[in-house]
Amino acid sequence: MEKTLSLTKEQQEKAIQHLNKKWTNKTCPVCQGNTWDVHPELYEMRQFNGGDMVLGGPLIPLLVVECKNCGNTISINAMRAGVISPEKKGEHKDD
Ligand SMILES: [Zn+2]
Repeated sequence: MEKTLSLTKEQQEKAIQHLNKKWTNKTCPVCQGNTWDVHPELYEMRQFNGGDMVLGGPLIPLLVVECKNCGNTISINAMRAGVISPEKKGEHKDD
């Protein structure tokens, strides 16, 4: 059950490539800064289910980018960014 939580070097490079290509205005909308940290792990957004926690429900895997100055956080769909493939989206997928 050993599981890697951090992105591999290759995944991190894909993430950076995607951001460099698509993210044209890197000025932070909150503080007008422009230094960002890409978190080395993915996060997930779970579908709201009336307040119930549903294991195995639909998820959006997210790449998280945080402004180094103010902490404003943006999230990019990790599948769209090419960091993970759609099949690997979740182990409990059952739709
Ligand atoms: Zn900021």
